[in-house]
Amino acid sequence: MDVQQINQIMLTYEEAKVIILGHACIQELEKVDFRNSVGRALAEDLVASEDLPPFDNSAVDGYAVKFNELAKATKENPVVLKCQEYVFAGRLDTISLQEGVCVQVATGAPLPLGTDAVVMLEQVVRNGDQVCFSHPTQIGNNLRHRGRDMSSGDSLLPKGTTIAPTHLALLAAQGLVEVPLYSRLKINILSTGTELVAPNIKPGPGQIREANSFLLEALLQTEACEVTRLHRVVDDLESTIKVLNEALRADALLISGGVSVGESDFVKPALKELGVKEIFWRVKIKPGKPLFFGQLGDTKVFGLPGNPASTFVLFEELVRPYLRKCLGHYQLEVPTRSAKITEDFDETSERLQLLRAHWYHQNGNDWVRPVTQQGSFSIASIAHANSLIHVPEGSQPLRFGQSVRVRPLAHRFALFG
Ligand code: AMP
Ligand code: MG
Repeated sequence: MDVQQINQIMLTYEEAKVIILGHACIQELEKVDFRNSVGRALAEDLVASEDLPPFDNSAVDGYAVKFNELAKATKENPVVLKCQEYVFAGRLDTISLQEGVCVQVATGAPLPLGTDAVVMLEQVVRNGDQVCFSHPTQIGNNLRHRGRDMSSGDSLLPKGTTIAPTHLALLAAQGLVEVPLYSRLKINILSTGTELVAPNIKPGPGQIREANSFLLEALLQTEACEVTRLHRVVDDLESTIKVLNEALRADALLISGGVSVGESDFVKPALKELGVKEIFWRVKIKPGKPLFFGQLGDTKVFGLPGNPASTFVLFEELVRPYLRKCLGHYQLEVPTRSAKITEDFDETSERLQLLRAHWYHQNGNDWVRPVTQQGSFSIASIAHANSLIHVPEGSQPLRFGQSVRVRPLAHRFALFG
């Protein structure tokens, strides 16, 4: 499809997604303090440069022994060994285990040379420096050998991994205090609408409080984005051009509202005036049909319809995967999964319906309940949803218990692996 053709038609969700992802440019690499890396993507494969544990050590508090010295130990005839000394975790010098003696060791303490087993403290009786062993032990018991967790040269994490809190332990243990990550995206947000007032203002007649830019800002902050929320712009061509001119100085610009075909929708003509190339502007999704996607130089422009549920659904389904691709993540989206619908849903559409829904597990099944209000204006619907049901275009009405595809919302579950 050339640009001309794409412009003429209404794209399917899948087509729009392929085009949007095809325009993603992967960010440059930067080195970041590992403590600030959670949620961001690794820009290089990480390989272990050190063995872990770095030295043979004890897995328990106990006594280091040579296992064959305890071979004949029984309750009736315990083997008694003299405790030579105590090795604590962090002790610097290495000692040797002599014949006929044992050495008390702490968990994590370096093993005396010649140790081949450690007997747990709880399994012996100690009198002064005499330690009674009433059971034999096995070779290797309670020993943690150097490199058993990971060895130098082992692959640690592949490029594209989304860093999780558990990875921080790995990075710390390997001394990887600076990690190669993809750099942040600079994103501007602009909301349009003469009717909009700030949340701290009591709306006058015909006015409403502005919600979308706050929603988008918070959603963007769950990804590695530096976000600037620009002032609202009223619906007139001149003001829109003026503000957009500023707003286009970013890796991507998200615009809310004003992108449809109404008398007071000035976003498209203003973008055109500024030389922004339209790639497409309509997608067969409900809610969210009038989605504009365009480009000026390296800046991508997403024009999202102003109804809050449309803004939200399009962000989750199309903008977030785009951002994650630019940010180098291997996992672009939370995979959809199957769940049973808790009630009939009669509405059918020639567009893909993305129903705000509540997904839960009960009696061995995953269930999903569409929230009551599916109108694209509904702010309550997005506040109460934890997932989106995908109802393919042209589907028959859904019946209770029928399996549907559901995408859990990443921000509700922290589901990126
Ligand atoms: P539009 O896409 O500009 O035609 O707006 C569609 C609907 O969404 C209208 O009812 C607007 O008042 C409403 N709307 C637009 N922008 C916002 C916003 N930033 N916050 C809340 N509602 C909005
Ligand atoms: Mg508007």
